[in-house]
Amino acid sequence: MLRAAEWRVATVEKVTVETPRVKSFRLAADGFERYRPGQHVDVRLTAPDGYQAQRSYSLASAPENSGSIEITVELIGDGEVSPYFHQVVREGDQFELRGPIGGPFTWTSVLGGPLLLVGGGSGVVPLMSMLRHRVAGEGAPARAALLYSSRSHGEVIYSAELEQMQEAGDGLDLALTLTREQPADWSGFARRVDGPMLDEVIGQLGDPAHSYVCGPTGFVEAVASMLVDRGLPPETIRTERFGPSGS
Ligand SMILES: Cc1cc2nc3c(=O)[nH]c(=O)nc-3n(C[C@H](O)[C@H](O)[C@H](O)COP(=O)(O)OP(=O)(O)OC[C@H]3O[C@@H](n4cnc5c(N)ncnc54)[C@H](O)[C@@H]3O)c2cc1C
Repeated sequence: MLRAAEWRVATVEKVTVETPRVKSFRLAADGFERYRPGQHVDVRLTAPDGYQAQRSYSLASAPENSGSIEITVELIGDGEVSPYFHQVVREGDQFELRGPIGGPFTWTSVLGGPLLLVGGGSGVVPLMSMLRHRVAGEGAPARAALLYSSRSHGEVIYSAELEQMQEAGDGLDLALTLTREQPADWSGFARRVDGPMLDEVIGQLGDPAHSYVCGPTGFVEAVASMLVDRGLPPETIRTERFGPSGS
């Protein structure tokens, strides 16, 4: 049996354009028969001269999708690895990865709800794994809310699937906030995540038993401290920081 720390080869089965700056990659790779939503993989790219670059990417898929895994990569303009995924990687290509990695930032349906998920930008990726597992796993789906901050409607990742999940009416509240640009008929939030916004989402959800916050570092720190200010026990709040920039 493969250990999570061992590098292995992944083959790209499918590339999906999610938004102009975000693509998903379905990968065939051994050793992912069991993983927990919220975990990530490390990707290692090797240039012909031997130079290597390594980055982490959250698993977007649910563990129930046996046989393949999915990652979702946002293009960082001056980056090293994400432009490679966007401009070079095609179906059939191969690269190295290892995983699944990560402990505290994981949720499985046995933990139950109410489940509060707060994501900024590509920080929605591991939260999507949790939401996909929530409906694909055993038992009744846990009561859940996703508060998701994007710059504009066109940058909302997984928008069609998220809408379908909400329309299923099985206890998921979807709250979007568009911080820079909103469609003319927009009725959702239109500002950065703040205390009153969290109060509204939590008021509808009920006190969360588990909260997960993921996104740019500044976003995660601000939201986590607002949740503590709202009286949520710190040990029920789990965070994952993707990078240095603000939203
Ligand atoms: C546990 C974990 C899981 C992650 N999961 C995902 C994921 O699912 N999807 C995803 O797209 N990314 C994810 N990331 C971020 C990812 O690992 C890379 O940091 C990101 O793709 C940028 O890499 P790069 O080589 O393109 O840029 P780099 O060459 O590393 O950086 C280029 C420039 O961009 C800045 N920068 C680096 N990362 C970010 C960022 N995330 N946002 C804004 N600016 C940044 C750097 O400071 C630098 O100025 C995750 C990070 C961690 C730690």
